[in-house]
Amino acid sequence: MKRVAVLGSTGSIGVQALEVISGTDELELHSILCAKRADLLGSQARRFRPSKACIVDPPEGCDCSGFITGQDSLEAAIGGADIVLNAIVGSEGLRASLLTAQIGIPLALANKESLVVGGELLRKHISAGSVIPVDSEHSTVFRCLQGEERPADRILLTASGGSLRDVPLERIETATPSEVLEHPTWNMGARITVDSATMVNKAFEVIEAGWLFPGIPVGVLLHPQSVVHSLVRLEDGSWKALLGTPDMKIPIQYALLWPSGGLKRISHDSPLDWTELAFEPLDALRYPAFGIVLCAGESGGTCPAVANAADEVAVEAFLDGRILFGGIGEIIDSVLSDHVPGKITCLQDVLEADRWARTEAGKAVEKRC
Ligand code: MG
Repeated sequence: MKRVAVLGSTGSIGVQALEVISGTDELELHSILCAKRADLLGSQARRFRPSKACIVDPPEGCDCSGFITGQDSLEAAIGGADIVLNAIVGSEGLRASLLTAQIGIPLALANKESLVVGGELLRKHISAGSVIPVDSEHSTVFRCLQGEERPADRILLTASGGSLRDVPLERIETATPSEVLEHPTWNMGARITVDSATMVNKAFEVIEAGWLFPGIPVGVLLHPQSVVHSLVRLEDGSWKALLGTPDMKIPIQYALLWPSGGLKRISHDSPLDWTELAFEPLDALRYPAFGIVLCAGESGGTCPAVANAADEVAVEAFLDGRILFGGIGEIIDSVLSDHVPGKITCLQDVLEADRWARTEAGKAVEKRC
């Protein structure tokens, strides 16, 4: 039995991971950890019976008896686990990834920010083969590369195009939060759904792929049905892909059972319609923020951390109704252009870039209110 620590258990991936673990004989739930949601954590603890339930920042007045709380909760959740599923939302997840790498146990990574902002710091753990991606596109690439002795020479990440894919261009600027949160194919958390509509998520995924699969050029292909979950070109010129109904339980299960597990059918009643599969190039006019974040990835160093922090602040402001949808990319762009790039050599470098970018993005939001 593999003991799994589920970090971010109350989020979308965390909730699905608990279902996967409880339905799989080879996996045992070691611990659950969340930031704040004590009620949901309590009901998860009663239903799934982990050895430890941890809450980092319990809300005032909540009954936390039986929970491990505060700053030590992360160490407590990871300690004694055989594998960590990091499904923490946002750049907070980096600390958990670094701790997992330090302890030297496998990391099933759903927190893409760990690589976007701190890939440099996880390089050794990745090259040791101890980071197994959970992001659906990267899970696909990872699976496609299994059993291939010769290196691949091209990766194409597929993108659904997000909730505004078919909205007329002139209406995108003023799209409302409720329109944006209607994702056509994937059921995910709020921030990532907004990031899909701006394609910032896809730019982050290109950066993520750069760390996970070094040396292989990465492109993006629009594929509205989200059935082909990315493609890899092998040395002989043939392409390999993984196809299936979009369901995060599939990459979650794969990562947790890798390399030895018996994969179980994740059940689906809806048959796939193969005749409907379509592919298109990405329209740069529709997704201006994509190119901005991609450039930050190419610049490297602290730039991706700055782009990520500015995006987090801008997305929150958009969801609160303080800025327009079109303002998200503009804020990321303006914060990046004021940034003097630095190197990432330790967590502190990331945190400083993150803090600076949040302050600057906050000011940019205020200016627009
Ligand atoms: Mg993805």
